Amino acid sequence: MTSTLVDSFSRQIVYLRLSVTDRCDLRCNYCIPDGYKHFKSTDDWLTFTEIERLVSIFANLGVSRIRLTGGEPLTRKGIDQLAANLANIPGITDLSLSTNGTQLSRYASNLYAAGVKRLNISLDTLNPVRMQQLTGHDVAAAIFDGIKTAHHIGFSPIKINMVLIPGFNDDEVNAMAAFCIDHGMILRLIELMPVGESGQRAHMATHNQAINIHAIRDQLVQQFNLVSATIPGGGPAYYLQSPDGRFSVGFISAVSQHFCDTCNRVRLAVDGVLHLCLGREDQVNLREPMRKGASDDDLRNMIIQAIAQKPERHCFNEPQHKIVRIMAGTGG
Ligand code: SAM
Repeated sequence: MTSTLVDSFSRQIVYLRLSVTDRCDLRCNYCIPDGYKHFKSTDDWLTFTEIERLVSIFANLGVSRIRLTGGEPLTRKGIDQLAANLANIPGITDLSLSTNGTQLSRYASNLYAAGVKRLNISLDTLNPVRMQQLTGHDVAAAIFDGIKTAHHIGFSPIKINMVLIPGFNDDEVNAMAAFCIDHGMILRLIELMPVGESGQRAHMATHNQAINIHAIRDQLVQQFNLVSATIPGGGPAYYLQSPDGRFSVGFISAVSQHFCDTCNRVRLAVDGVLHLCLGREDQVNLREPMRKGASDDDLRNMIIQAIAQKPERHCFNEPQHKIVRIMAGTGG
């Protein structure tokens, strides 16, 4: 189905990232700042009924893919029921979820039954000590357990999201590749983005270090004879695969090589604010008009008008424009 949602650069919007909470049970040091106090009031959180209403309107406008994210989506009570309800909305053909995996062993079975078939799991390190340093919590065992359970249940594909942090985990790329091959999962290497105070700090701190995503890609290409591949998903990664198909790796190099020309998505935060670009502050609040009685037609028009305002590209490389929202707030 083609989307009615076309921005002023002729990009069709078919993909909605839905943040169901801005809270997280981890404190990855490039994501949520230490002692962060600006979480949104739960009164401002969209209820499940409100989320379902907005998703129905988006679906009616041609959005077919939804990714549940956050914060950590599995910390929102009833997430499996929400997933089931969203999967039943006419027009939604692809429901996926991003998680840090800490609670996955508990929820995987219900999520799968609800209709979530594709999973992205964040895993920046295989080393439990580093994991604790990065996240502030001793969660390695729970995450590995969650990954094992998800694999066993049959989610496919499972993508492992590894944010490359020069000097911290760039020596683990080969180990992570081996881990993904062993578990039949796809590795995705993500460039650190200067989003929020922590993202900016981490980005600055590692900016001048020699290793970069392109050098890592070249090394993997040589090692595995990688050729380009097409992998299911609505996102911006470009993929390479080994000739025997056992190893697939995606690269998300949003900073060094933007892919804004093909952007097909917007993000709805838990407070009902529609973010038109991860790397810009352009936004429209849908919660307020909805709570003041806007009709579906009103909301539909607001969404169409908002999409027309979608910026051409992010501003990660423009130091004068800083994205102050944290990634967990927008829904990464
Ligand atoms: N909690 C879920 C998870 O861990 O996947 C969903 C939300 S989390 C914000 C989504 C993704 O954003 C994670 O893979 C995380 O590593 C990534 N992320 C957070 N801050 C980032 C940054 N500054 N640069 C690049 N990726 C970032």
